[in-house]
Amino acid sequence: MGISSECEQGSNSVNGNRNGNGNGNGNVNAVEVECVKCDSCGFTEECTPAYISRLRQRYQGRWLCGLCVEAVKDELLRSDTLISTEEALNRHISFCRDFRA
Ligand SMILES: [Zn+2]
Repeated sequence: MGISSECEQGSNSVNGNRNGNGNGNGNVNAVEVECVKCDSCGFTEECTPAYISRLRQRYQGRWLCGLCVEAVKDELLRSDTLISTEEALNRHISFCRDFRA
């Protein structure tokens, strides 16, 4: 005898209402990409905004696809005189234009 039976009533459903919305940031893996067009050959690629802006910084605001980046590097290496990246870029772009015209 003497068992206390208080608190047996009423509070059974208090826990049903927890809100599972703590983190709105579950999408870390879905990297945002933008479509960007190569200023040299016109090829479009999908790249992350970070990559695009890094490339634009390197090439005076122009954007180049992977192939043209390699071609500009090649132009730099092949040149007998020391030329700037911009010069190599200009050479490559005019080469592309001549080639397509
Ligand atoms: Zn290109």
